[in-house]
Amino acid sequence: MYLVWHMYFKMHEPPRGSGHPESPVRLELLSRGLKSYGLWGVVERVSPRLGDVGLFRRVHDSLYIDELVSELEIVLDTFFIDPDTYVSPGTMQAIQALAGAVLASLDLVDSGSVFIAGRPPGHHAGVAGPGLGALTQGFCLVNTAALLADMLAGRGRVAVLDFDVHHGNGTQEILLERPSILHVDLHQDYRTIYPWTGDPGLRGGGNLVNINLPPGAGDDVYMDALGVVEEVLEEWGPEYLVVSAGFDAYRGDNSFAGLRLSSASFHRLGRLASRYRVVAVLEGGYGAGLERGAPAFIAGLLGRDDPVEDEATSSGGDVWSRWEAVRPR
Ligand SMILES: [Zn+2]
Repeated sequence: MYLVWHMYFKMHEPPRGSGHPESPVRLELLSRGLKSYGLWGVVERVSPRLGDVGLFRRVHDSLYIDELVSELEIVLDTFFIDPDTYVSPGTMQAIQALAGAVLASLDLVDSGSVFIAGRPPGHHAGVAGPGLGALTQGFCLVNTAALLADMLAGRGRVAVLDFDVHHGNGTQEILLERPSILHVDLHQDYRTIYPWTGDPGLRGGGNLVNINLPPGAGDDVYMDALGVVEEVLEEWGPEYLVVSAGFDAYRGDNSFAGLRLSSASFHRLGRLASRYRVVAVLEGGYGAGLERGAPAFIAGLLGRDDPVEDEATSSGGDVWSRWEAVRPR
């Protein structure tokens, strides 16, 4: 198992003192978590060469990439491109490291599972900005998972599994034009959370599966949902699985989401993903999810027991009945 890691992933930085949750500290939480649970020495760390930002033209509108590059070349101080999303003087380097991480992953994926511990996240970045008409890009600039899926599609059958608590609206917008790639997205009920998309009725060209979890859902409801995911993936039969790995559905990860998963759910996600040739990309997760959910997921990918061993969370009867109303069948 490879952990793709680059020091430039820390160069994308929010304004000092802003308290913005998407900051370089996230990568420290992740590495601290891997160290505490004995996984840091087990994964093989790979630092990729820098890649060309232009690689992202495969999945984004060329004009969008041109504008982004021209902004990033001259940015002298951090500024916000929308109310959520900033760019900083080191953002260009972080994105070059992401492009390099994609190329390195393509070389590694046939010999082991890959986890790209990169930033900024990407799944809200659509073809030419915010995905599916969202109001902001939700901290995202380029869609690394969609780029990986697009490039792997030249080699074999591909599926994307997005388990960030928020809907991967950018990925969905990009994959709407690529019906040969399956997109399974598990997220908190789209009517209750940003980016307000991810309606289970939306099926695209038969390649979209949106699974909505009611706020308050714990491991019991989530495990039931993972049963659905397993069936959907088995039916699609991908050779490659790209995972948008967000850890913000972890109980108490942050204040902007309402799922309450323990390490057990992330561990099962890792086990499930390990059945395929897999590249996972870090999306959200801002606190405890990175320190406890991510190690559980990576242990699952490695085929190890869950080292975190949280107490499982259960959902109330009202949550179950709301889940039964939206459960895909
Ligand atoms: Zn998220």
